[in-house]
Amino acid sequence: MKVTLLASSQIKMMNFDMIGGSEFDRYHALIMGPSSDRLAHFAGRACYQAWDMPNPATANDMGYLANILRQGHESVLEHASATFYIEGVSRSLLAEITRHRHLSFSVESQRYVDYSNTEPVYPPASQPNENYIINSAYDDALDAYDRLYENFREQGLTRKQAREAARSVLPNCAPVAMVVTGNMRAWRDVLKKRYSTHADAEIFELAKELLRQLKCIAPASFQDIEEPF
Ligand SMILES: Cc1cc2nc3c(=O)[nH]c(=O)nc-3n(C[C@H](O)[C@H](O)[C@H](O)COP(=O)(O)OP(=O)(O)OC[C@H]3O[C@@H](n4cnc5c(N)ncnc54)[C@H](O)[C@@H]3O)c2cc1C
Repeated sequence: MKVTLLASSQIKMMNFDMIGGSEFDRYHALIMGPSSDRLAHFAGRACYQAWDMPNPATANDMGYLANILRQGHESVLEHASATFYIEGVSRSLLAEITRHRHLSFSVESQRYVDYSNTEPVYPPASQPNENYIINSAYDDALDAYDRLYENFREQGLTRKQAREAARSVLPNCAPVAMVVTGNMRAWRDVLKKRYSTHADAEIFELAKELLRQLKCIAPASFQDIEEPF
């Protein structure tokens, strides 16, 4: 499994500079810090036009967003987003992660991409003995896939039509790559469900890595998620 952060929200200082004029010093103070957290912090203060920060405990992102999270006022976390390129996960994981309706996906196509030379994805519980069994089952599936593809081509189907029909024998352990985007509130919801000891072991591993990277770009927005739920 490989998880690469492709993009995350960045505050444009110019835009902030143009807002408010005489209020600029306050805005400027507010934009110093991780962009995603700053954006949520800014959005929260914009609701009440509360630019004075007399309370030192909530004058920074950590303190302010801790309060927001306690109150469940999570809509302010929807302004910032993060996009990941996720590779080397199984089709079973794809079926699970796509259930999260607030995430956006671009998924490697089994209709266009030739799976003949792919390797299976082993579930985390799998040890060398089980890996051997999975490998052998995957090889058999790929044999059938290749034979089906040739048969369908001989029948006159196009390459795409032949692949889309032959993929019927590809198993859950077939690998897939995808680009996934979510806003911070959506990612938090995914983590609450999948960074859990009740979740499937592979998606749990993914959630753990996503959390690690999300905490780097938005530490205040994920401050309350530490241990598996
Ligand atoms: C441990 C575990 C086991 C599971 N087992 C199964 C299983 O056996 N079979 C199965 O089919 N699924 C299973 N799932 C998937 C699960 O049912 C959900 O589809 C998945 O977790 C996505 O969560 P969600 O539907 O709450 O929210 P998301 O789609 O991620 O949306 C987030 C939140 O937005 C709100 N929301 C989104 N859409 C609507 C809507 N249409 N109406 C009202 N509110 C909405 C809800 O508050 C929701 O919680 C499992 C999930 C987990 C974590």
